[in-house]
Amino acid sequence: MRVIFWHIKIETIKKLLEEIRDCSVCKPFLPLGANPIISASYQSKIVLASQAPGKIAHEKSIAWDDPSGKRLREWLDVDKKAFYNPDNFAVLPLGFCFPGKSKTGDLPPRPECAPLWHKKVTDQFVNDPLYILIGNHSQRYYLKDNLSLTERIKNFEIYLPNYFVLPHPSPVNHFWMNKNKWFETDVIPILQNEIKKRLK
Ligand code: SF4
Repeated sequence: MRVIFWHIKIETIKKLLEEIRDCSVCKPFLPLGANPIISASYQSKIVLASQAPGKIAHEKSIAWDDPSGKRLREWLDVDKKAFYNPDNFAVLPLGFCFPGKSKTGDLPPRPECAPLWHKKVTDQFVNDPLYILIGNHSQRYYLKDNLSLTERIKNFEIYLPNYFVLPHPSPVNHFWMNKNKWFETDVIPILQNEIKKRLK
């Protein structure tokens, strides 16, 4: 009976990911076309919910394989092998496709995406995963509050054990990092401890 249950779980999430990878709902708004970037397993222990893939991720069809990903792995204290194992980490941005650029940086994730797909994916998880909410877009979507990113991160402990809030690890965020040095000294060690507990 148990074997049948796990077989159904594996097939269900496989079909769902195939359906998402074929999605072109907001193609007319995507300057480089649809290329949904997502990875997940029904066993994922940690969910990385960020904003949307950037141009590099779109071109490589792989998330977090850039300086932001390098810093994120340092914060999490994991190597690439552990990071790209979907049984450990699901990659679930708020928008799965690169949304294009504005004059000031990447556009926000397409608003169609998370309401259409997120719950279908998160309903498949069996391990009650930790959601790491990276940046304002995913924090607003999941926490539904009006706080600033800095206020949330200063109060990160109130969101545990379900959520861990982080700034985006992009090098362009260096101004925020320099202004809030407590983040790397006080918050990151607690994050690393949470990750160790989840991955053991
Ligand atoms: S961003 Fe999401 S909803 Fe839009 S085409 Fe890509 S997968 Fe589909």
